Amino acid sequence: MISSESELHVEELEALLRDQGFHRVAFLSTNGLPRRLAEHPQISVLGQGTFLIAALSCYPREQDDASAPGDPHALIAPFARRNYYGEAVSRLKTVVRILCRDHGLSKQALRIFCNSRLPEKPLARLSGLGSFGKNTLILIPGLGSLFVIAGLFLPFPVTGITDYPRPSGDLPPTGPDVRFDLCGSCRACQDICPVGALPEAGRLDEKRCLQALCTETVPFSEAFRRAWGFRFYGCQSCQEVCPHNRALSLETQTNLGVLGPSLSLKRLLSLSFLELKEVVRRSALDRSWIPPRTLLRNALVAAGNRRDQVLLNFVARHRSSDDELVREAAEWAVQRIECGHD
Ligand code: SF4
Ligand code: SF4
Repeated sequence: MISSESELHVEELEALLRDQGFHRVAFLSTNGLPRRLAEHPQISVLGQGTFLIAALSCYPREQDDASAPGDPHALIAPFARRNYYGEAVSRLKTVVRILCRDHGLSKQALRIFCNSRLPEKPLARLSGLGSFGKNTLILIPGLGSLFVIAGLFLPFPVTGITDYPRPSGDLPPTGPDVRFDLCGSCRACQDICPVGALPEAGRLDEKRCLQALCTETVPFSEAFRRAWGFRFYGCQSCQEVCPHNRALSLETQTNLGVLGPSLSLKRLLSLSFLELKEVVRRSALDRSWIPPRTLLRNALVAAGNRRDQVLLNFVARHRSSDDELVREAAEWAVQRIECGHD
């Protein structure tokens, strides 16, 4: 039963989310959606109501590569080093419990979303949570692009929503017609992308993007294998160069799904598919759309690019794999390590 939804004010909701450690919060009424979003199948099915959209920092104050002499590692992008998505959902569940307790709301009526099929980035942009960067990610002053988006859909209006985005709060004034308003003349992300996946400002070529290729089950081309570098999961190049990601300080403490900045290639290449799945269990990589065979392929390509003789036997054992994706990557990696030069 929804007994006191009309009493809900955005300031109360914002305070609840801030109490749970979310670093930024914004709101959006379905009344304010442009037609292309209102007709989005994942949105139209929700009906009328209010999106509460929040950002949780995934900035890590740690080294990016824990390799040691004789133990080269494969690298993990910051957003996947801990399960920030799971952490955000857990915190939102607490918010839902409080709302149900204090306002008599029905738990079933409130929809949590995080890394979902909703168009979360356009919703974040429209709500004023942040602005689009030319690398197609949302930028928020003070968080850069190093955060996860999570939120709640409330199937009713809340009061005070017209005050958002705040004109003089953490965010600059924004409007749906302003694009790349935090980028100015910068194009560092486009210039640094190792595979030219940002041919125009705000246009990502997913067929080229290394982030998208992490879970792709077709073999990488030679050029993409070399561009892959030491990655295990995630590509961060277009975020590393972004001026908005410098001098960040807001962090999120979580023990959920801790993988760390990198994983030992000797260890990764000693694992079966099942064992690899166990290593990433409950982490950000524990997703149905991330097959272990693609993770093993990623590790093999990273090992090939490490070109460290210490990895040769670990790579070579996969030349006889039953999985063609793995076998082919192992063959390439062995040749690359044995060759020893470009
Ligand atoms: S994630 Fe990597 S490959 Fe994709 S656009 Fe950014 S730099 Fe390019
Ligand atoms: S690197 Fe520059 S152009 Fe790219 S998103 Fe950051 S500020 Fe914008």
